[in-house]
Amino acid sequence: MAARLSEDPSVSVLLLEAGSSDRPGDEKGVVDLWGSRFDWAFTSVPQENLNDVTVPVPLGRALGGSSSINGLYHIRGHRSGYDAWGESGAHGWDFEARLASFRRSEQTTGMDTQWRGTDGPMVIEPPTPLSRDAFYGAVLTAAEEAGHKSLVDGNGAESEGVAPTEINLVQGKRQSAADAYVRPVQQRPDLTVTTDATVHRLLMEDRRCLGVEYVVDGRSVRAGADREVVLCAGAVGSPHILQLSGIGPAAHLRGAGVQVVHDLPGVGGNLQDTPMRMSGSPRRPLSRPPVRTRRTFSPAVRRPPSLISNSSPCRCFYRSGTLPRNSNPGAVNRGPPPVHTATPSPSRTCDPRAGVRCGRPARTRPRLR
Ligand SMILES: Cc1cc2nc3c(=O)[nH]c(=O)nc-3n(C[C@H](O)[C@H](O)[C@H](O)COP(=O)(O)OP(=O)(O)OC[C@H]3O[C@@H](n4cnc5c(N)ncnc54)[C@H](O)[C@@H]3O)c2cc1C
Repeated sequence: MAARLSEDPSVSVLLLEAGSSDRPGDEKGVVDLWGSRFDWAFTSVPQENLNDVTVPVPLGRALGGSSSINGLYHIRGHRSGYDAWGESGAHGWDFEARLASFRRSEQTTGMDTQWRGTDGPMVIEPPTPLSRDAFYGAVLTAAEEAGHKSLVDGNGAESEGVAPTEINLVQGKRQSAADAYVRPVQQRPDLTVTTDATVHRLLMEDRRCLGVEYVVDGRSVRAGADREVVLCAGAVGSPHILQLSGIGPAAHLRGAGVQVVHDLPGVGGNLQDTPMRMSGSPRRPLSRPPVRTRRTFSPAVRRPPSLISNSSPCRCFYRSGTLPRNSNPGAVNRGPPPVHTATPSPSRTCDPRAGVRCGRPARTRPRLR
């Protein structure tokens, strides 16, 4: 957002980030970064539907936010998910509207330009076809035998089926949102990037936001805004800052000693996250590591620097329940959440005897509440 806004030299943009400007090393995989200084490393409250266990909630704390520590998957959501948002009243969030933004963000080559961008800041290298690798070729065959469609481009016209995963990795280096958008334009005179600066509250006058108060080097600083304040501190950070500023459920704010500016009960509630589950097949151990993963590696495997990858070059979007393929999004929205992802990969981390692990069979379409 800072990069796009500062394209206009007549505006002056201040980007504040609590984390540092350092890039996590390119040898670091997602698992290495959990709990590191680049992670806020939150823990959930006890989860009623998980036998009251608490779960770790990693969130990026660095220029680039969670994109600096994430799993590098470049996967668009399923179109019906965006359409459901649009139908629920989120104007401009339906798939057609989002498609323009997706295309604008990407720089792909050799893809169908009706669906894919060619000159955006996020460089997407063409993924290796699954059939070129012994392990993923077998996964592809098995998926096809099970009735899943094989897709050349899972971010294109169709997303349901099995496809090679696109990865936010450029020539072996992590590509965060900061790498793609901010670092290349950081010298713009109208853009100031201040890191290690934690915003404590919005400066409110009645219900108008006039600026922010943040702490940097132990000093409290106030920054006024001539035009506007854009709050994008993430799924936890944004509601946290709003609540600290008196915007949120009144009783909760009063209980915490915060003066209420605007009683908005939804702020800080209804967070939905993707549960992650691993499952494996211990019956057929692989006799040797598959060819491709020796080259691209998973975060859990020893590897030379600058050769990280996400943990699976293959992903499958599939429907659970009884909803027919291509059922209309309205019907889909009334049924159980239908679209799930699975990312099969050779097992290393879960059970050394397992031949295949299937990571993150996860619902990808949380419904608005
Ligand atoms: C471990 C992990 C793996 C993921 N894997 C993938 C993946 O493979 N593919 C994918 O597409 N998505 C993945 N995601 C999700 C994706 O990274 C996020 O959806 C995306 O980064 C969210 O962007 P955001 O700008 O909303 O928030 P964030 O990226 O969280 O950015 C918010 C920023 O605000 C800063 N901030 C917060 N509070 C304050 C404050 N008080 N003052 C100043 N700054 C503050 C934070 O430090 C952070 O830099 C993953 C996320 C995580 C955590």
